[in-house]
Order: sequence, then C-alpha cells, then structure tokens
Amino acid sequence: MTRAIPNVLTIAGSDSGGGAGIQADLKTFSALGVYGASVITALTAQNTHGVRAIHAPDSAFVTAQLDAVFEDIRIDAVKIGMLANADIVRAVAAALRRYRPAHIVLDTVMLSKNGHALLAPDAVAALREELLPLAGLVTPNLPEAAALVGANGQAADEAAMRQHGEALRSLGARAVLMKGGHLGGSESPDWLIDETGSHRLGAARVDVKQTHGTGCTLSAAIAALITQRPSWLDAVTDAKAYLVGALRESTRLQVGTGIGPLHH
Ligand code: PLP
Repeated sequence: MTRAIPNVLTIAGSDSGGGAGIQADLKTFSALGVYGASVITALTAQNTHGVRAIHAPDSAFVTAQLDAVFEDIRIDAVKIGMLANADIVRAVAAALRRYRPAHIVLDTVMLSKNGHALLAPDAVAALREELLPLAGLVTPNLPEAAALVGANGQAADEAAMRQHGEALRSLGARAVLMKGGHLGGSESPDWLIDETGSHRLGAARVDVKQTHGTGCTLSAAIAALITQRPSWLDAVTDAKAYLVGALRESTRLQVGTGIGPLHH
C-alpha cells in the first residue's frame, strides 16, 4: 500500500499580496507534497511595501475554524504563524490541548519587515505561557527570542542565539531553531537547540532583494517535512535547502516594486 499524503494545517494570517502568511504556507505545502488546511487568524491589507491594515476575527471564530478542521480532518502537523492578539493565542492553545496534533511548529511572528505589529505586545506573555510548552519546535529570530525570554541589550551574535535558545527550552519549548538571517555577513547561520544538544546549521546567504515571507516559508516547510523525516534536524536541514531554492527562484518573479516574495 502506498503511504497516505500527510495533512498539514497552518494557523496564520492572510497576506493579500500573496507573499507571506497563509498564502506562502499553502504554496510551500503543495511544493513539498503535502495537503494543506488553513485556519485564518487575521486578514492583512498588504503588498510588497508592507502591511497597511489588519482585521482580526473574534477568537470564537478562530475556535470555530479549528473545531471544523480537527473534527473532520486527520492533521499530521501544524504550523503556527501570525496570531494577532492574546485572545487568539489562548484560543489556539486551548484547541491544540484538546486535539493534540503530533507535531507543532511555532513561528513566533511579532513584527512585519516594515514595523507593523503582527502580535499585540501584551500577547507575548500568553505566547510564552500557553503556546511555548505545546510546541515541538519554535522558530524565533533573535529579537523575538529576546522578547520571549525578557532579555534586552544583548549582542546580536551566535553566542546570544545559543543562550536564548537554551532559555526558551527552559521555558518549555522542546526544540528551538534560532534564525540568524538578520546577523549580516556572508553566511546565514541558524542554531538548532534540542535534547541532543546545539547544532550549527550554516548556509551561504542568498543575496536577493526578494525576502518577503522567508520566515513563513521556512516554518511551513519544516511542518511539511517533519511528517516525512525522522527528526527536527533532518526536517530543518531539508526545509533550509527548500528555502534557498525558493529565494534563488524569486528573481524570476515580477511581483510589486517593494520587497518581493519567493517563488515556490
Ligand atoms: N504578513 C503576514 C500575514 C505574516 O504572517 C508575516 C510573517 O510572518 C508577515 C506579513 C511578515 O512578512 P515580512 O517579514 O516579510 O514583513
């Protein structure tokens, strides 16, 4: 018998420009051979120049979407992206405690590249207390990790990445992928910190202007691949390779005049 195609759920915000959020997640799922379902936590009016406005539904409507999906569809992995506010964080956490999917990837989305808040600042505590302990893998960049662990004034270097990764594990995250894409330099190193130790995942920086939706794409690729790989290290390694390909292919797109999206 052939193995069934995995079903992966993204819980995230919509990007009307199609480059990030739900749209990037579903394109990534298709490219990596899994079926995608989507629970939408917020609508954004957005293009390649940035987010103009956000409309978040009542948390009860997010719960209704989650119940509709989980009561019918076997979900093999979940990716969590933009959550907008603390009520939605709590609604998502409650549903995940009820339905207990096997794999949860938490992308701790806080700010858009043009500085629009995608998570209310007062929701960071709810994210830390309610969702971190449920996640199999958390994928923060350094500023997001610092906000979650309550650190400030830290150097932006690999030592700080490892330190924050350990701190997030002591707050209940089982594995942490600290993303170093913002560090600058010719390499774009990430650190995976899990129960087996710290793993440095180097990758040459892909020097393109089109980077909108990079974090969304990476976390969606990890969720798609953890259903097909034996470990987070394998899923993350192959997801990074997928991301590099999508970044390279982005130069073929003509989408907007700002920071454009990736090609999946
Ligand atoms: N819009 C939505 C709905 C997102 O989920 C995200 C990222 O997670 C973004 C925008 C941010 O994209 P960027 O980092 O390219 O601004």
